Amino acid sequence: MSVRVVARIRPLLKAEAEKDQILSIHEANNGKPQIVKIPNPKSQHEEYSFNFAAAYDATCTQQELFDTEVAPTIKHLFQGFDVTLFAYGVTGSGKTHTMRGGKSLADRGMIPRLLSNIYRKSKALEKASNGETSINVSMSYYEIYTDKVFDLFEPPEKRTPTGLPIREAEGGKTVVAGLSEVPCSSLKEFEILYDKANANRSVGSTKLNAESSRSHAILCVKVTISTATETRASTICAIDLAGSEDNRRTGNVKERMVESASINKSLFVLAQCVEAISKKQSRIPYRESKMTRILSLGQNNGLTVMILNLPPTKAFHLDTLSSLNFANRTK
Ligand code: ADP
Ligand code: MG
Repeated sequence: MSVRVVARIRPLLKAEAEKDQILSIHEANNGKPQIVKIPNPKSQHEEYSFNFAAAYDATCTQQELFDTEVAPTIKHLFQGFDVTLFAYGVTGSGKTHTMRGGKSLADRGMIPRLLSNIYRKSKALEKASNGETSINVSMSYYEIYTDKVFDLFEPPEKRTPTGLPIREAEGGKTVVAGLSEVPCSSLKEFEILYDKANANRSVGSTKLNAESSRSHAILCVKVTISTATETRASTICAIDLAGSEDNRRTGNVKERMVESASINKSLFVLAQCVEAISKKQSRIPYRESKMTRILSLGQNNGLTVMILNLPPTKAFHLDTLSSLNFANRTK
């Protein structure tokens, strides 16, 4: 069981000025870029440093991030281990860009690349086994919004206000009752499913960003490998987390405050779990929030990769500092 926490600083957007950049990346003693520096908001002469397993700057392409951080986990997946990938950060930091990405081939995010890789590897393995091995891919996709679970493969009008119930299943596992598990056998098929499901996401607007996402979107891809002698399944979950912004500054009222409280709680528990896993503690508080409970985070001998998305400019100073502090706790 292990956790890898890496930082990704996004490029400046058109509306952002170079002079407003506050983040910089530095090499650690081993000569690898692993340190992110940010000024103290109260004293520009003082800088804080944060260490990561790796730090990527604006020049990092989707391909590069995939090759170094995601591709290595696929090997473990096919060996029967579970994998969890998180994109954490304030709204506007690049989480969705990292996970889903853009339309062009170069902009494609970690999720479509992951699927493309899984299908390619499956075909190669099936072929090499002369028909003795068959591999099936199926997936579920849901969001957790104000602590309720909604199936993203179902249209919004089919939602019940209370969301899907979660239940304890055999072996202490937690399952979402009634969640669809959709077989999907090619990248083409996946892209259609995924686009349609994304249109079902809850979106709200805060002062920070007109399309800010206030829910955690969780895609779980199950790979089942069957041979003459055994059937083995493992799952990789890719999670585009809700924005981690400080709600005292987003001008949230009522409904938005309720969302915020549940987002804060689940991100807090997530940090505690990741910290417990990385410190190899025996007690991981994954039952304390719905998301970590459904993911059984840290229970399945798997790998966790957390990508901390960071916007480079002053406008996000306090939120970025708080994201960095969050990541710091997880080591
Ligand atoms: P979030 O999901 O965290 O709210 P987005 O992924 O929507 O953030 O990113 C905010 C904006 O920054 C979007 O316009 C996105 O296209 C752009 N962006 C984020 N990361 C990158 C990147 N690595 N390269 C180019 N543009 C990026
Ligand atoms: Mg987003």
